[in-house]
Amino acid sequence: MSFWTDGEDIADQAAPDGPIETRWERRKFSAKLVNPANRRKLTVIVIGTGLAGGSAAATLAEAGYKVRSYCYQDSPRRAHSIAAQGGINAAKNYRNDGDSVYRLFYDTVKGGDFRARESNVYRLAEVSVNIIDQCVAQGVPFAREYGGLLDNRSFGGTQVSRTFYARGQTGQQLLLGAYQAMERQIGLGNIEMFARHEMLELVIVDGKARGVVVRDLVTGEITTDLADAVVLASGGYGNVFFLSTNAKGCNVTASWRAHRKGALFANPCYTQIHPTCIPESGTHQSKLTLMSESLRNDGRVWVPLARGDSRKPGDIPEDERDYYLERIYPSFGNLVPRDIASRAAKNVCDEGRGVGPGGLGVYLDFADAIGRLGQPAVEAKYGNLFEMYQRITGEDPYEVPMRIYPAVHYTMGGLWVDYDLQSTIPGLFVIGEANFSDHGANRLGASALMQGLADGYFVLPNTLNNYLASGPFEKISPDNEEVVAARKQVTDRLDKLLSVNGDRTVDSFHRELGHIMWEYCGMERTEEGLTKAIGLIRGLREEFWTRVKVPGAGAELNQNLEKAGRVADFFELGELMCIDALHRAESAGGHFRAESQTPDGEAMRHDDEFGYVAAWEFGETPTLHKEKLDFEYVHPSTRSYK
Ligand SMILES: Cc1cc2nc3c(=O)[nH]c(=O)nc-3n(C[C@H](O)[C@H](O)[C@H](O)COP(=O)(O)OP(=O)(O)OC[C@H]3O[C@@H](n4cnc5c(N)ncnc54)[C@H](O)[C@@H]3O)c2cc1C
Repeated sequence: MSFWTDGEDIADQAAPDGPIETRWERRKFSAKLVNPANRRKLTVIVIGTGLAGGSAAATLAEAGYKVRSYCYQDSPRRAHSIAAQGGINAAKNYRNDGDSVYRLFYDTVKGGDFRARESNVYRLAEVSVNIIDQCVAQGVPFAREYGGLLDNRSFGGTQVSRTFYARGQTGQQLLLGAYQAMERQIGLGNIEMFARHEMLELVIVDGKARGVVVRDLVTGEITTDLADAVVLASGGYGNVFFLSTNAKGCNVTASWRAHRKGALFANPCYTQIHPTCIPESGTHQSKLTLMSESLRNDGRVWVPLARGDSRKPGDIPEDERDYYLERIYPSFGNLVPRDIASRAAKNVCDEGRGVGPGGLGVYLDFADAIGRLGQPAVEAKYGNLFEMYQRITGEDPYEVPMRIYPAVHYTMGGLWVDYDLQSTIPGLFVIGEANFSDHGANRLGASALMQGLADGYFVLPNTLNNYLASGPFEKISPDNEEVVAARKQVTDRLDKLLSVNGDRTVDSFHRELGHIMWEYCGMERTEEGLTKAIGLIRGLREEFWTRVKVPGAGAELNQNLEKAGRVADFFELGELMCIDALHRAESAGGHFRAESQTPDGEAMRHDDEFGYVAAWEFGETPTLHKEKLDFEYVHPSTRSYK
């Protein structure tokens, strides 16, 4: 029995051709404009206030559109983007170390294991330089060098220093910039902000996205909001694994509701497992903590040479240590990309050379850096990360090496969008981590913030015009049949969740789903394991709908109800992720199929068979549509960091 059906191939109709350096310029010029007087008559709903949604809402409102913005946190500036630590890439070449727009483009296409669109990635690299100017103008306090220029550090998968940072709080500082820009427009009355509201359904009228159904998380009230276009900036879905570095609230519901209504979901199996996280410490845990990749600029990764060596790290002499990243990948050393570093950590732990409880850890050691630069210099760069590590583990990383292990961190998959960032539902645009574009099968460090802000400040404000130029669209009555039906879908589903009245908590289901996903759709996947996982997920989902207990009522603050809805969507997404991983019988980036590896254990792609984006259509049996990827500039080659 097949878990999917094959559908027709698709193509990105908005993609420009011609020389790659001119594509974005030409697309902007060919896009229709909306005259300023008409913009006031057009309303755009933006779901999400992270770096993607916050920057988009502020920019669209600044341009004169009416914006209605939603987030489930109590303030827009608590969006998950605030957690980002290490930095944001831009091809400024301040270091004069050989960087350029073209090199950032090249690194990103290669880093994504040749599974991203060249046009999109080139545009991202091009726009990256504008982001830094914009943020500096807003007052974002990027780190500076002695001479006053903005400082840079390196992230994985590159041999230049192009990462701009604000200590270990880059996301927070960037988000404060976007939030201030939003607040200005809220003050001017151009953005109406709805915090603590969760979108639970998309409203489609006459084939176009025209609104959303939301639940007020404080009162439980259900309302419908109608507009001329809808933008989803609702973030990633790493929490399908239960344990991840993502904020606990991160979920897939907004995207999944759109998917169920016709938006294709692309490459769901591409998950990023980040190599440097604090290892799991027990079954009580509900979240994992990232130690920023920036630490690999100065920290050296190692394990004991001998299996089962349980001596304290300080007692293991140099010649009995294996600095395995430096050994296997001498060109990039500790700064290999995340997928490579994570798999290498797994391999040495599988060999029995892991450290710490259960042997699931490797050392990240700063002794060399402290000796070379002095503790104050290390503290100035990474102080808050060291403090966080010490608070969580009780160990002082200035004295003993950090212990780290890979954990789920980011999702490259997401709703399929064209070059204009429009989904397969007209009028529904998707930006930031919620879409699938730009990172291919593996995202390089410091490029999520770059993509979110590129989409929100620069790309969407240019492409949405083209769609809105044919508006304002016909006014829709709240009594419209399709609007009423969308609202009923929400109330029926909430009633169903509340009425099961079983004996198992939502969290226990979520945790079990997470275990299945990690075991069979995590760092290494096999045909057998994925097939098993699909069966297990289906069984668990059935059990969920007969045994879940959601206490309380709908018309009140009810966090169990919120979680139940999100976990119900995670079940469906988890199954699709396994199906996508099963169909892709190759290894690429974050998707490592054990059956497809080189003799020395590296990922082996099969470009002839799988050189495409897998875009899935919702259905009892999902339908696969392929978008073929062409590489005119960066020709697919074996990705080597040796
Ligand atoms: C610990 C950590 C550190 C990181 N560090 C870096 C880094 O140094 N550099 C880098 O480039 N990347 C980093 N990343 C990745 C990066 O932070 C994220 O990919 C990025 O911030 C996502 O931004 P976003 O705007 O797309 O989504 P988010 O910031 O996740 O925002 C999502 C928004 O959508 C809203 N929302 C979601 N669903 C709904 C709904 N149904 N209804 C209403 N509102 C909804 C939320 O309330 C929120 O406002 C890091 C990630 C983590 C977890």
